[in-house]
Amino acid sequence: MKLATFTSGDAVMPGVVVDETTIVPLGAIAPDMLTLIANWDALHGAVAAAAAAREGALDLASVSLLAPVPRPGKILAIGLNYADHIAETGMQTPAHQMWFTKPGTAVNGPYADIQIPRGSTMTDYEVEMVVVIGKGGRHIAKDDAPAHVFGYCVGNDVSERVWQRLTPQFTLGKGFDTHAPFGPWITTADAAGDVHALGIRCLVDGEVRQDSSTQHLIFSVWDQIAELSKVMTLEPGDVIYTGTPGGVGAARKPPAMLLPGCRVRCEIDGLGAIEAACVAE
Ligand code: ZN
Repeated sequence: MKLATFTSGDAVMPGVVVDETTIVPLGAIAPDMLTLIANWDALHGAVAAAAAAREGALDLASVSLLAPVPRPGKILAIGLNYADHIAETGMQTPAHQMWFTKPGTAVNGPYADIQIPRGSTMTDYEVEMVVVIGKGGRHIAKDDAPAHVFGYCVGNDVSERVWQRLTPQFTLGKGFDTHAPFGPWITTADAAGDVHALGIRCLVDGEVRQDSSTQHLIFSVWDQIAELSKVMTLEPGDVIYTGTPGGVGAARKPPAMLLPGCRVRCEIDGLGAIEAACVAE
């Protein structure tokens, strides 16, 4: 199933996307996506029935999609997780997973404008597969990790490289408002196929800048969930950005950064695409 959060008039609610052109509201089943995820075992039958009946169905083009989880409890992101991206940054392949967080205020809808921060000349794109946690837990074994994933989205780990390089910590460079778009919906894990074999691309103004496959992840999704949950309790609706392949703007010669007026599109086979205009803050 494909599950989205959308606005129609003043209402914000979850919905199930059918045929990629229609959305069936789920407000009568759950008030928001976090409730839906946390109670999925009890609610998924009702969601499937609503999708089949198409009661209250709306034209997908007539609603606005928000980030599927509008305010995740945690947004975790791994750095240096594709060999070609490590090579272009001149860094060593890390022995340990390198994690940082993005603030909840960075969340942005799948088609919402991305702000180029005041004075920034080094705002960059990073297409990434995004994991949404379903069942929470601590000390999740790698073999058990698949059972803890609710679904997958397309994300852009927008990064301000000047701020990122000012200090060894990435929090500020990765934390600007609007710099965590993801969506356009959550493809539930049962419908996502082999998530370690999906084509992943980023295009800027129609030019392909990143073009790889999730088969090149150094640390798999399961490795990531096992490692994170050694430290922190993962909760329903937590979001994990799983790393970006080579081709980022800062590594190109000459650099090719996002500027006001650019359009940036991120797509992953089977998970859909997100696309945004870049605007001056
Ligand atoms: Zn990233």
